[in-house]
Amino acid sequence: MSETPQIDTPVERAPDVGELTPPDRTLMGPGPSDVHPRVLRAMSTPLVGHLDPSFVEIMDEVQELLRYAFRTDNRWTIPVSGTGSASMEAAIGNLVEPGETMLVPTNGYFGGRMKSMAERAGGEVAEVDAPWGEPLDPVDVERAFDEHQPDVFGFVHAETSTGVLQPNVPELTDIAHAHDALVIADTVTSLGGVELRVDEWDVDVAYSGPQKCLSCPPGASPLTLNDRAMDKVLDRKKEPRSWYLDLSLLEGYWGDDRSYHHTAPITNVYALREALRLVAEEGIEARWDRHRSIAGDLKEGLQNLGLEMNAPDEYWLPSLNAVRVPDGVDDGAVIEYLLDEYDLEIAAGLGDLAGDVWRIGCMGHSARPKNVEFLLAALEDALAEQGYDA
Ligand SMILES: *Cc1c(COP(=O)(O)O)cnc(C)c1O
Repeated sequence: MSETPQIDTPVERAPDVGELTPPDRTLMGPGPSDVHPRVLRAMSTPLVGHLDPSFVEIMDEVQELLRYAFRTDNRWTIPVSGTGSASMEAAIGNLVEPGETMLVPTNGYFGGRMKSMAERAGGEVAEVDAPWGEPLDPVDVERAFDEHQPDVFGFVHAETSTGVLQPNVPELTDIAHAHDALVIADTVTSLGGVELRVDEWDVDVAYSGPQKCLSCPPGASPLTLNDRAMDKVLDRKKEPRSWYLDLSLLEGYWGDDRSYHHTAPITNVYALREALRLVAEEGIEARWDRHRSIAGDLKEGLQNLGLEMNAPDEYWLPSLNAVRVPDGVDDGAVIEYLLDEYDLEIAAGLGDLAGDVWRIGCMGHSARPKNVEFLLAALEDALAEQGYDA
């Protein structure tokens, strides 16, 4: 039997914890990204109730702004309370009924998370294969459809674990619809950063997160469903396993009734509203262009240091740059050095790419020339420290 650890502090004594002074980091990892000062200001405005008439108006505005960012007319466009994974689980948990089959990709970390969520929803899972670092090939998707006849097809538009952007989205959605399946797109690292056209590309469901290309703190996560998808959700034979994320119940709050389901994270909704207002002011297409251009400078700078991008140019993902760790360089030591010496965050590779790449985000408010110059200079120094000669 293990002993219960003894706690030194008697419960009567109040913990002596100082004022919160987080370090002032530059966030160039896979998210969160730097938050715009206007978003931080919006978060310090007074709270109102989640059914206050003024908040109902804010909800309408957030929904309208989200439709703009997603390029959709979907009535069913809401922020889900929670992080991107909550929005992801709302999509999968409502769309996949027990016994149904979901087709998921194997080319990155988040396809694996789709699989886990589909299984927990009571679904069967079939896989369409591609190596980590490559996109799905429509030919393979077609073959997987013929073989498994899935009811739902999920793919990751912007794979944050590999820095790969999935091209040919309309081709993938055509294949799925020809087989009477619904499509769920993971757009967590694409919404507000790279070209994404939900309606034109006929994506049935897209989920996202606020702390990547929208440069907003995590907490309220975008989700959109077209009528075809929502009809399926409302016609389910069995209710979804999660009460909290049951979209047929959330309809009462975000739909016409505006009746209580749970207390919305008011402050996060304020933040999302301001972040989306910044998107609308910039213009969504101009914002996509900015990401391509600023991340293009980053890519060029990395290549000038003699580094190699993990993804070929055709599927390069501007918002997440996976760059190969040169031989003889310790990837973790570089990450630590950047954090200690420069207050600069980048990330290591995950899964099949662990130890092979660094992941450098260029998202939202972090996608600025100033950040790119800073990162390239700091990285050059960190590499020199490792004995690497650029
Ligand atoms: C970050 C991310 C998620 C999960 O979002 P959380 O906010 O961490 O829950 C899902 N998919 C992709 C592609 C992501 O980059």
